[in-house]
Amino acid sequence: MIYFIGAGPGAADLITVKGKDLLEKADLIIYAGSLVNPELLKYAKPECVIMDSAKMTLEEVIAAMVPAAQAGKLVVRLHTGDPSVYGAHREQIDLLRSYNLDFEIVPGVSSFCAAAACLDAEYTLPNVSQSVIITRMEGRTPVPNKQKIADYAAHKATMVIFLSSGMLEKLQKELISGGYTADTPAAIVYKASWPDEKVCRCTVGTLAETAKEHNITKTALITVGNFLGNIYDRSELYNPTFAHGYRTADPSKLDLKPEVK
Ligand code: SAH
Repeated sequence: MIYFIGAGPGAADLITVKGKDLLEKADLIIYAGSLVNPELLKYAKPECVIMDSAKMTLEEVIAAMVPAAQAGKLVVRLHTGDPSVYGAHREQIDLLRSYNLDFEIVPGVSSFCAAAACLDAEYTLPNVSQSVIITRMEGRTPVPNKQKIADYAAHKATMVIFLSSGMLEKLQKELISGGYTADTPAAIVYKASWPDEKVCRCTVGTLAETAKEHNITKTALITVGNFLGNIYDRSELYNPTFAHGYRTADPSKLDLKPEVK
């Protein structure tokens, strides 16, 4: 059996209980050494074979996984954050299927969730943004038409931009050309949940200079939007004036600073 496991954003205790249990049982672990915290490898049995995929091609990863799984070993492919976000696990799965091998995906805490936690932020504030756009700048990996930063900036929704901290001059230009104003709040979150985490609040117009000031060139997320500001509506779900399946409405209970007894 092969398990694709989300390692979480960095801190070793942000892996799921299921992920940790499988690491403890694994006979072979192939981990993404560029971003997975090596501390997680302490959960492995002493006889477990450990390989760093940062130095390997897809072909080499498959060549290591297949014979181990065919021999009945428990194989773990440890991806950073959650595998579904820029994880490149689909191509592995399709190849494993062609060998008739069983696999399972164990989700992890994506870095975009860890970044919100670092910022004490909610991405989906009522009347500010009800959508989160996860995207990236075009680099060596092309971005399809109509999915460029400027296309998405036009929506003024919350944006979380991966894999782009090395091109912030260009990013801020694209954000502005798409419709964000230069004074729109933004933040750079470097190595969320790692001991050397940095959180830099700035604006769209100062992204590049802020990163430079703090020496940030990689392993960062850029978040953009008015969810970083202070104006929003309270939720309807918890509003006393609003009834739903679990609660009746009682407008007399509306109190913006509840008395605490
Ligand atoms: N699957 C991962 C993303 C892999 S792509 C996830 O769900 O988080 C790698 C990019 O993710 C990095 O270039 C960076 O933009 C971002 N990233 C990964 N871990 C991060 C962290 N702890 N803090 C900030 N950004 C991170």
